Amino acid sequence: MRIKKRLPFTPNSHVNRRRFCFVRILIVEDESRMAALLARGFRDEGYAVDVASDGTDGLWMATENDYDAVVLDGMLPGIDGFEVCAKMREAGRWVPVILLTARDSVDHRVEGLDAGADDYMAKPFSFAELAARVRALVRRGARERPTVLEIGDLRLDPAAHCAWRGTTPLHLSPKEMALLELLMRHADEVVTRTQVLEHVWDFAYDGLSNVVDQYVSYLRKKVDRPFGRADIETVRGVGYRLRGAAR
Ligand code: CA
Repeated sequence: MRIKKRLPFTPNSHVNRRRFCFVRILIVEDESRMAALLARGFRDEGYAVDVASDGTDGLWMATENDYDAVVLDGMLPGIDGFEVCAKMREAGRWVPVILLTARDSVDHRVEGLDAGADDYMAKPFSFAELAARVRALVRRGARERPTVLEIGDLRLDPAAHCAWRGTTPLHLSPKEMALLELLMRHADEVVTRTQVLEHVWDFAYDGLSNVVDQYVSYLRKKVDRPFGRADIETVRGVGYRLRGAAR
């Protein structure tokens, strides 16, 4: 059974959606029985549901339409779910994605999450749990969650533990990497020493309080100084700030 692809809403159906459904989700699943079960379950939850039966259609629909969540099967003919998710993120679509996979292996779950998925469920699963997870994702909304951070010419891939200034790889220790990631996630904001201690060191840390300053100095030697830059600024008495692209 091929479930008909629904094109972007006509003005009438949009009005209907506003009146009756506040949440619109996309299901990408090639097994027609599973797709029909999921669609019925989510419609019973009061959602507007679209179904795509392969990765190509799913990617197209997720890129063309505004969904509140995408339930994406990992194993699809053609483009698989992992690639669909990675391509959605490349295209700047940040709709929350939950991956379904029968491959209950750690590697595939890691692959899915690193491809930009927000959550996963291994088949078989209970619909009640899937619905609860989708509700949680819908609440979070579609804010940007890039898998690779970019601030100016600095790039950092947390999954691969790699960072670059322009095209030059930066050789950072795990703590330096974590510190740079924190500064990049809060670019142009002041990050206090306490925030750094909480995020980069754990609660058990009771070492020297100047450890943050030490690590910032290590980071500057690798990230700023060799490139004639001074992007990591000291905000006297408060903490540090990484200057972003807008200056
Ligand atoms: Ca499948």
